[in-house]
Amino acid sequence: MKSKIRVCSSWKSNHDSPLYTLSDQCPICNSPAINSSPAPFGLEDHYGEYRRRILRRKSNQ
Ligand SMILES: [Zn+2]
Repeated sequence: MKSKIRVCSSWKSNHDSPLYTLSDQCPICNSPAINSSPAPFGLEDHYGEYRRRILRRKSNQ
């Protein structure tokens, strides 16, 4: 089954993290939403958690 989820094509400049949507336009910045390939999903999540952990550590100091 193919995923219909799309990702904001300019999330790198407009959002802190990939913005996923089911429509063909980003609901936040109205940029076109592009098909996301399944591969990056796990990596993005892993990377996001890693970044969040760093942020948490920084705020604790
Ligand atoms: Zn966007």
